[in-house]
Amino acid sequence: MKLRILGTAAGGGLPQWNCACPGCSRARAAGPRAWRTQECLAVSVSPDAWYLVNASPDIRAQILAAPGLAPPDGTRHTPLRGVLLTDGELDHTAGLLALREGAALDLYAPPAVLAALDGPFPLRTLLAPYGSARWHAVGSGPLLLDGGRLRVTAVPISDKRPRYASGSGAPGPWVVAYRFDDTATGTAAVYAPSLARWPDALDDALAGVGCLILDGTFWSEDEMARATGGRGSGARAMGHLPVDGPDGTLVRLLGRDGIRCFYTHLNNTNPLADRASPERGALAGTPVEVPSDGTEIEW
Ligand SMILES: [Zn+2]
Repeated sequence: MKLRILGTAAGGGLPQWNCACPGCSRARAAGPRAWRTQECLAVSVSPDAWYLVNASPDIRAQILAAPGLAPPDGTRHTPLRGVLLTDGELDHTAGLLALREGAALDLYAPPAVLAALDGPFPLRTLLAPYGSARWHAVGSGPLLLDGGRLRVTAVPISDKRPRYASGSGAPGPWVVAYRFDDTATGTAAVYAPSLARWPDALDDALAGVGCLILDGTFWSEDEMARATGGRGSGARAMGHLPVDGPDGTLVRLLGRDGIRCFYTHLNNTNPLADRASPERGALAGTPVEVPSDGTEIEW
């Protein structure tokens, strides 16, 4: 199984265009090598078939930076077969508008998200005249992709709605994680970039996996409020368990032998984005890593 972590930042990226918090200022001064694009993953179990998880507004640059996602010489053909959406957030779906140039893509999302993309954010209506998207609901059982070799299981996480769909009464889940199983090799991974809570189903989904990539949006519960002078909400209220603290995600990762763990979806206020921070240093000697954009994991 091959995973390419295309983007590692929360919505807005690092630096964010309108922000000069310490994290954004540091990244702006350091230049593009220190920047992070918005969270997105590509997964593959065979050389000419890749699936995206989420389609960030940075998707064009992320695909151009990934050699494995380039069309073969002399063709107008893409190894990209489809896109799985974890939720309907704008920073996970707006990139689909940039993938409309005739590639026949299969698009997967929970039913509530499909309804939102037919309603308050009418992405399906907007893309329909371009003719090539096939939409599918996830959640009623595993999907078999890439000729049956890649088994994908949606793991219900929460009912956190995108702000544009806050009035929707559609039943959840609104946010899922995905487990990927290579049925030929037995390798497996879980991608969970948006964790408002840690359901038992997520623990169940981690059985036998070699790799977990998860929500690292905030280091601490009150980080946004401190970075923005008291205006920001708490991490949990924004739909993200913080990394640190007795109920944070880090303590849940430390006892798991044999699983490589990676934090993604880092907010620009998160000190983990800074290699020199004490918080980043605290991860040394643990199985938990903070990847850069473009990190590839293969096993
Ligand atoms: Zn900032």
